[in-house]
Amino acid sequence: MTQSAAQAHAVAPTAVRSTPSGRIYNYSAGPGCMPESVLRQIQEDVFDCRNSGVGILEHSHRARVFDAILMEAFAECREVGGIPADYEVMFLTGGSTQQNFMVPMNFMPPGRGGGGAAVGGADYFNTGYWSQHSIDHAKFFGAVHEAASSKLDNYAFIPSAAAHKYSGAPAYAHYTSNNTIYGTQWHAIPTTPPGVPLVCDMCSEILSRPVDFGRFGLVYDSAQKNLGPAGVTLVIARKDLIARGNTDVPYMLQYRTFASTESRPNTPPVFPIYAMGLMFKWIKAQGGVKHFEAFNAQKAKVVYDVLDESTFYKGHARADSRSLMNITFRCPTPALDDRFCAEATKAGLDALKGHRATGGMRASLYNAMPVEGARTLAEFMREFERTAG
Ligand SMILES: *Cc1c(COP(=O)(O)O)cnc(C)c1O
Repeated sequence: MTQSAAQAHAVAPTAVRSTPSGRIYNYSAGPGCMPESVLRQIQEDVFDCRNSGVGILEHSHRARVFDAILMEAFAECREVGGIPADYEVMFLTGGSTQQNFMVPMNFMPPGRGGGGAAVGGADYFNTGYWSQHSIDHAKFFGAVHEAASSKLDNYAFIPSAAAHKYSGAPAYAHYTSNNTIYGTQWHAIPTTPPGVPLVCDMCSEILSRPVDFGRFGLVYDSAQKNLGPAGVTLVIARKDLIARGNTDVPYMLQYRTFASTESRPNTPPVFPIYAMGLMFKWIKAQGGVKHFEAFNAQKAKVVYDVLDESTFYKGHARADSRSLMNITFRCPTPALDDRFCAEATKAGLDALKGHRATGGMRASLYNAMPVEGARTLAEFMREFERTAG
């Protein structure tokens, strides 16, 4: 890189350090904020992990220190999630995006044929950008029936149970429980026809509230929203479903490969697994998912109250479909949205710009966002409305 190119990429120093510890409030949708105690622990362990004299980045994935870290991560995930014994917990790579094709590769009915002709299919709920992505990938492996969709309304709501229309005998049904970009969230798990496994992209909300994992065939989540840094994908799947999976699939893309090798058929993402393990411990120490259910509701209410009292801001999500993780809203004009984001950044409130699909702003209030982060944002919003409105 030339010097001028390097300068062009330089990040301007942030003027206002808005948090008590001298950092800033980070409302990024992903990678998202992490708890400061976890970051401090990581700082130590990068240099010397568990008194081994070797840092976490340098340990063999098959040696003693990482053995313990991996086994604790499995056990603590099971404990905080309340994962039933007949479910496998696996740590994969490739993000939630890779699950978009791994799920149909493994569970669409076999017999696609050399010409790629689809035989049989699966049902998908289309409630946002990531749902649409899942549908697009699944179509390579079989027929997709949309069990319900909110696309025509720019994904502002979650279709009610009365609107769910399953096809005859789908191999599985898939939905996205929290729509990160549009700021909507399912408040109840959909009921599938008897014998139809439910698959869920739980990427931006896993362990933010208690969930009965026994209702699912398979759940996936890439860690960088609520469970630490990017690089590992948590997959929780019923053992009998894994066993039933297609076998005409590359070894590294079969779930049974990870289930039978403690998730290390090859070198696993050692550091992200380690960091996710710290996040499980942290969630437990805070009081578990029950604590976060109340805590996240409290934080979201602080910001939604501003929207409800305002004649200036407009929320994207319909009130009955609002997400507790990602709050989407707009000012009366795009120019005011830009000004809002610029002034927020100056005040030490970062990454509030919404996705281009909705415009406006998006505030992500994952588990690790302190309540002061929600309050500081609410105050900023009121002040901006007062001066710019
Ligand atoms: C972020 C996100 C994804 C994509 O995750 P990657 O790790 O980037 O593949 C998929 N689904 C949802 C709901 C998300 O929020």
